[in-house]
Amino acid sequence: MKYAILGDIHANLEALNAVLEDAKKQGVTHYASTGDVVGYNADPKACLQIVRNLKCATVQGNHDYFAASNESMELFTPIAQKSIRWTRKQLSAFDRKYLRHLPLILDVESFTLVHSSLSNPHRWSYIFKRRAADANFRNQFNPVCFFGHTHVPLAFIKGKTTEKGFYETLHICPGQQYLINVGSVGQPRDRNPKTAYAIYDLEAQTVTLRRLEYDIETTQRKVRAAGLPFRNALRLASGR
Ligand code: ZN
Repeated sequence: MKYAILGDIHANLEALNAVLEDAKKQGVTHYASTGDVVGYNADPKACLQIVRNLKCATVQGNHDYFAASNESMELFTPIAQKSIRWTRKQLSAFDRKYLRHLPLILDVESFTLVHSSLSNPHRWSYIFKRRAADANFRNQFNPVCFFGHTHVPLAFIKGKTTEKGFYETLHICPGQQYLINVGSVGQPRDRNPKTAYAIYDLEAQTVTLRRLEYDIETTQRKVRAAGLPFRNALRLASGR
């Protein structure tokens, strides 16, 4: 059984299609997501439709939560606020209901999905450093937890003083616990504009990070045509 783990799709249809095409070639049979299907880019409805059609096990991200509500957004940057306000107008009542009912934490097979962190997932904190990873590990019971939110692919192993850091292929060893960020499909922020996702091969017990070129220009053109913040288009080309 091979799972594609999709993080922070953020309404980027071209990146999502590139990922799904690659996943099929790699023999992926199942799909899971660490949330933020919508926000920033111009295809929230199409991306939601695909995620639902794939029967993709999905947790709720902060953009998903706020796009599906009318709550005020003080914690967001002005650009993110503007993007969420635009997204709210695109979504149907059905889309909003779907997003509202996504869980914050989801166990699938022998792994866990969360958008931000297993320690207070509703606070949307970011895990970049060991300390934040340790707080997550105190609440992690499965051998593997996948997370998103930072848009930076990074792995931590419980009890190790240094983080595993950037990875290409991780071997999941029995008795150890892993916290793995799968990067972002729709808005990478590790200075690499290629779309990112991970494949978890449950038989081989490996997690492999995939990076792929996609049609960035089309995504940028759609962002501009939609009247979304210009920066949302610009940052795709620099990957930050
Ligand atoms: Zn995000």
